[in-house]
Amino acid sequence: MTAQKLCEKITYIPASSDPLSAEVFLLDTPCGLWAYDLGASFEAAEYLNSLSEFRAAVSHFHRDHAGNLSRVHPAELYGGGYFIKRAGRGIAVSGEMYIDGVRLFSVPSVHAKGSLGLEYGGLAFLGDSLYPGHRGYDIGILKSTINCLKSLSAERLVLSHEAPRLRNRGEEISRLEKIFSRRIKGENFIPAE
Ligand SMILES: [Zn+2]
Repeated sequence: MTAQKLCEKITYIPASSDPLSAEVFLLDTPCGLWAYDLGASFEAAEYLNSLSEFRAAVSHFHRDHAGNLSRVHPAELYGGGYFIKRAGRGIAVSGEMYIDGVRLFSVPSVHAKGSLGLEYGGLAFLGDSLYPGHRGYDIGILKSTINCLKSLSAERLVLSHEAPRLRNRGEEISRLEKIFSRRIKGENFIPAE
């Protein structure tokens, strides 16, 4: 398997549907290699294990993003509090953390509790954090997600399961604000479109 190019110094192992595996993004930074998500396929695990050393940040504790946790051995592992508790190892990020120019931050998400984002090189990696949950969008959490997007400095967003194609931060804020505007008084959730 070869990693595909996303942009300068950033590549990715594509997503797959059998097994369901999210993209594994690889960031070649001046201070070493980072993986954002681990995927769930043997191919992704094999690729990661062929690297001499890497740090990993995992977006959330869903199998398609973290399934390879037991197969790979990053030098350092970061995740949200819920992920680290379930993983039983690694460093929990609450709020934000800077490691050698890479910014890790909590993303309030209706899709997955305790999601973790990563900002580097003008891009923000957000995993599945902008997607709805089973019951649609929790209004309070959606508002926090929108505020989180507004606080980013990266103008381009990378979402999982999206080919990947870069999204414009302003357009994504408008899209979520439009969903937020559909809220009905007295109801806690907005149905997904
Ligand atoms: Zn996913």
